Amino acid sequence: MIKVAEGIYLLDCLFAGLPGQCGVFLLRGRESALIDCGPSLGVGHVIAGLESAGIARGDIRYILLTHTHMDHAGGASLFLEHYPGAQVLVDEKTSWQLADPARLVRSASRALGDIAPYYGTMSPIPAERMIPLGDGQVLEIGGERSLRALHTPGHSSGHFAFFEEGAGALFCGDALGHLIMDSGHIFPATPAPEFDLELSMASAERLAALAPRLLLFPHFGATGRAAEVFDRFAAQLKLSRSLAEGFRDEEEAPVLLAAALLQEMPPLKEGEERLIPGILKVNAGGVLHHLRKLEKG
Ligand SMILES: [Zn+2]
Repeated sequence: MIKVAEGIYLLDCLFAGLPGQCGVFLLRGRESALIDCGPSLGVGHVIAGLESAGIARGDIRYILLTHTHMDHAGGASLFLEHYPGAQVLVDEKTSWQLADPARLVRSASRALGDIAPYYGTMSPIPAERMIPLGDGQVLEIGGERSLRALHTPGHSSGHFAFFEEGAGALFCGDALGHLIMDSGHIFPATPAPEFDLELSMASAERLAALAPRLLLFPHFGATGRAAEVFDRFAAQLKLSRSLAEGFRDEEEAPVLLAAALLQEMPPLKEGEERLIPGILKVNAGGVLHHLRKLEKG
């Protein structure tokens, strides 16, 4: 468990067997909350981390989901089994996907291709254990902290970020892409079919206007250099679009675009070659899909 701020911790899911790819945040207090769940395959690692930090089964009160993708929500039903007093908070319009996740799992396995096995699976969440989230809703946690839920579509239509005003900490989900902590590199997460570039840009601007002091990325880590992140994110989104426009008429456009996106990355670390190229292929497919949607009007 890594401490990222007073009362805020990051637990590594060891996604694809690799450190530093996908995490879950713990907001610790009289009542504790998890922000995102990681994939089903990572739940054991996260629970082990929570237990070794002395978090008991009755301590987790809320599980806030930034969105329903399997690397964020896949582990939710397993956490609910382990933490009997916990409830899941999720976008009111996409919560039905979690009550009956079969379609979500099928469409993810199609979209993810080779890397689908790392995302595990997802079991239904009982409706009575879900609390629907609306934009602007404020959650009081243990009477000590309040989190504002911000609808931030673009990466996915039901995406939420959570802002903790006391610490100025923003749990940004995938709204600002992935952070590579040692280089400070940012790359957008742009999966089909829901990625929308204009919405993504607008959501990032809305988040920038909060002037957060700390950005918390499930992929992966924390940074206080918020202004830099917002600039880099916007630049990277524009770069993805302009690269995609160059390849859109090629038969092999997704492969070519994924290779071009890889060129923009810092060198991969050991083991990442089994994950990152697959993620970039998904991102390439999403940007191309978005451009085709715009073209059709
Ligand atoms: Zn996602």
